[in-house]
Amino acid sequence: MSADVIVQILVLAAEAVVVCGFVVAFFGLRERFGYAPLYVTLGGFQHLQTLMAATLYIELFPGITVSPGSAVLFTATLFAVLLVYIREDAAQTRSLIVGIVSANLTLSLFVGLATLHMDSDLLVDTGYASEHLLNWNMRAFVIGTATLILDVVLIIVLYEFFFRVFPRVLIARILAAMLAVIAFDTVLFVTATFYGSGDVARILVGSLIGKVAIGFIYSLMLSAYLLLTRRHRTDGSVVAEHSHDIFHILTYKQRFELLEEEFKRDGLTGLFDRRFFDENMLRELNRAKRLSHSLNLVLLDIDHFKTVNDSHGHSVGDEIIKALADSMKTAFRAADIPCRYGGEEFAVIMPDSSVEAASLATERLQSEFAATCVAREIPGAGSTTFTAGIANYPKDADTVEDLIVRADQRLYKGKEGGRNQVMFDTVIMKAMAPP
Ligand code: GH3
Ligand code: MG
Ligand code: MG
Repeated sequence: MSADVIVQILVLAAEAVVVCGFVVAFFGLRERFGYAPLYVTLGGFQHLQTLMAATLYIELFPGITVSPGSAVLFTATLFAVLLVYIREDAAQTRSLIVGIVSANLTLSLFVGLATLHMDSDLLVDTGYASEHLLNWNMRAFVIGTATLILDVVLIIVLYEFFFRVFPRVLIARILAAMLAVIAFDTVLFVTATFYGSGDVARILVGSLIGKVAIGFIYSLMLSAYLLLTRRHRTDGSVVAEHSHDIFHILTYKQRFELLEEEFKRDGLTGLFDRRFFDENMLRELNRAKRLSHSLNLVLLDIDHFKTVNDSHGHSVGDEIIKALADSMKTAFRAADIPCRYGGEEFAVIMPDSSVEAASLATERLQSEFAATCVAREIPGAGSTTFTAGIANYPKDADTVEDLIVRADQRLYKGKEGGRNQVMFDTVIMKAMAPP
């Protein structure tokens, strides 16, 4: 193998690492910048890969040519779809797939129209507007877009299929799904596009070798990323990437996720339940640490609720619990996560908020709660109050368990100190006005 061959192979590998590295980095930064950096980048690949597939080839071995455009960029699209599918949800994957196909379609149609300038006498000869630059033909366009749609859906279907074959080995199912789609795409695209040119077999082998090699690198990098960033529950167990035993494709998976979401809600109040709280508290705390944000946990408990139940009955008690839950939905920000912690106890996760903001929101809740009880004419609810304890990351603690303990201790202090108040540290943040 000549030095040049080795250098060219290394350049191809470097291209794959750079492209894949940026895709992963943009994905990792989605909480800060949203999905736009990732999606815009992938949209750009859609034309560049077509353009490069028409213009740039390296003959690594006699008769074996590789196109960096299709080997590196096309494979990166599959990589990104799989990454979003495994880490995010069906709705987000659907959005990405529609985005990629839209970019492919729009760019191809635009280039198709732009070729109409080429035959004009008015065309200025810049020396660059070659037919290759605006490489376009109807056949490649239709075949290219159709195979792209098949590919991005197939990679998910195959990933789910290989999940059943290799339930324990992440890299095996990623590699199998990736290579199967690469083989499918290459055979379909190359035979359909170059059928009759006599070169089909040679082009096929070259395309396969290049894409399979890059597919290997991508599969390794994707598995490494997923393993390095895997999520843990509060009890230390790892959250499975996927654990569906049925053959979901997007629509079914999305329905399944919506259903799963419903299961996490408490029947009486519609708030998230304790299990959801446990999982999300950890996730939000990790996120706060990553972004150096402050986070508050508010625990609250209705005062003398046994007496309310005893004097007005259990169903009135239920009405009051519902009224408090509904008031929480308006008193807190959309980013806050109110949960029913159990019985007449509630927990609110407040990401990226100061203690003062948490205390203000809890005060707002008190008046909102009183107003809701009056509006709903709940008997005896006018005098119902609650006591709350607030714990803050990083001021108080840096683990979920410790934050809960601190908030609970303060709640208890508030109860001891006369109830109807919001406690932070040993300070009463707000002694509520008598209802
Ligand atoms: P404290 O001010 O110290 O909190 O007094 P409390 O009476 O509220 O005491 P505690 O928090 O221990 O009592 C909780 C009561 O809430 C006991 C239980 O009967 C009642 N409860 C728990 N869940 C429900 C529910 O879903 N509906 C109704 N109506 N009552 C509930
Ligand atoms: Mg209680
Ligand atoms: Mg109580």
